[in-house]
Amino acid sequence: MDEIDALYQEVILDHYKRPRNWGAPEHCDRKADGHNPLCGDRMTVYVDLDGERIADVHVDGAGCAISVASASIMSETVKGHTVAEAQQLFDKFHAVVTGQTGADANDPALQKLAVFAGVAEYPARVKCATLAWHTVNAALSDQGDTVTTE
Ligand code: ZN
Repeated sequence: MDEIDALYQEVILDHYKRPRNWGAPEHCDRKADGHNPLCGDRMTVYVDLDGERIADVHVDGAGCAISVASASIMSETVKGHTVAEAQQLFDKFHAVVTGQTGADANDPALQKLAVFAGVAEYPARVKCATLAWHTVNAALSDQGDTVTTE
């Protein structure tokens, strides 16, 4: 394992052990449930909107280290962005974790999301890494149903 990998592992473990913005808030404008049946990850994403801007994001649920760390980092990353900007971030993040050609894990817009670049080598974990993003998307587009990665 090289130094970058070790650093990334550390960030993922830190967010898994102490996930940020975790727990159901008293109030939210939108919410959606997400489920990754392959791994058993389940989460609910709560969003507060201020016009087009994402004022606050909370997540509640349980899952593997990758899914929880990804949800924690997602909540930190999209907060303060507009819904359209969050969608663009998801597109870039999705391209990186699925190993699409032209995807750039060093894109500064991705910030901490770059720690998941290694997931591209493990297709089964891609769904863990993207669950929170699919779920926040469902919340933002106000779909009432549970989203699953299948
Ligand atoms: Zn998982």
